[in-house]
Amino acid sequence: MKSIGIIGSGQMGAGIAQVSAQAGYHVYLSDMNQEIAEKGKAGIAKQLSRLVDKEKIEQQVAQTTLDRIETIGSLDPMASADIIIEAATEREDIKRQIFGAASEVLGHQSLMATNTSSISITRLAQSVKDPSRFIGVHFFNPVPLMGLVEVIRGLATSDHSVAMANDYVKALGKQAVLAKDSPCFVVNRILLPMLNEAFFALGEGTASMEDIDRGVQLGLGHPMGPITLADMIGLDTLLEILRVLQNDFGDPKYRPAPLLLKYVEAGWLGRKTGKGFYDYSGEVPTPTM
Ligand code: NAD
Repeated sequence: MKSIGIIGSGQMGAGIAQVSAQAGYHVYLSDMNQEIAEKGKAGIAKQLSRLVDKEKIEQQVAQTTLDRIETIGSLDPMASADIIIEAATEREDIKRQIFGAASEVLGHQSLMATNTSSISITRLAQSVKDPSRFIGVHFFNPVPLMGLVEVIRGLATSDHSVAMANDYVKALGKQAVLAKDSPCFVVNRILLPMLNEAFFALGEGTASMEDIDRGVQLGLGHPMGPITLADMIGLDTLLEILRVLQNDFGDPKYRPAPLLLKYVEAGWLGRKTGKGFYDYSGEVPTPTM
């Protein structure tokens, strides 16, 4: 059986673990420690049991999927993985430290991938021993529902690595879009300025957050408004991505809206903390301003 090592068991790492296990891969799931990885696995168990309740999958399939996910407390077991995917916090120093350590246990055939939303693949590849085996595989949130994965080639990435990443994406039943190694690649480069503009408009009092959301939803035909989407992505992640855009392009048009900064400073990071622009403690989300 093919196997995947996933580093970071937050919302994206857990999602990638789930779809990989559903596709038949054995998954080694890690985080800062095994206890956090176990929490990630518990979240996956909940997602799978929701699918069973909705009669989308059978109980037996849910159990087999869960059994394929092995939480680990050190990176050593990943030596036998075909692909190692990093899905940790969107900070270059954290990712560099992870890849430095993962590079030490990398097996002969393994590919090393990052799920970064914005950071240069070529730069991150400097933290591994063999940059030709390093690539970006950028999933979309929520991973089990979204059909796209951007495959990003760094300057040193080999054709073989691109082929391996494409095969993996195909095995998950998703579609790959090949993107150049440019800040935020394709989709987020277009999405982030829109979300940031929504934060500026909200901060300036142009409209209420519910009206901004309803306006974009109805006026542009989006499945959800930008403020709701931002809460789903995670406001800390968005802030880090905007900083990468601003620094790497050297263009002030990407400066993060002050209101976004305030929410992150408050620790109101979105759904994952129970409160972001909306408060999720009640039955229906309520605006926090
Ligand atoms: P998250 O905050 O839900 O999870 C991050 C996880 O990384 C946490 O469990 C944290 O404990 C772990 N972590 C932090 N430092 C670590 C370390 N040194 N070693 C191992 N684990 C560590 O964040 P997320 O939304 O899952 O985002 C993860 C990555 O995926 C980021 O690079 C982000 O840009 C990218 N991404 C996010 C989205 C999204 O919509 N949230 C979409 C696509 C890509």
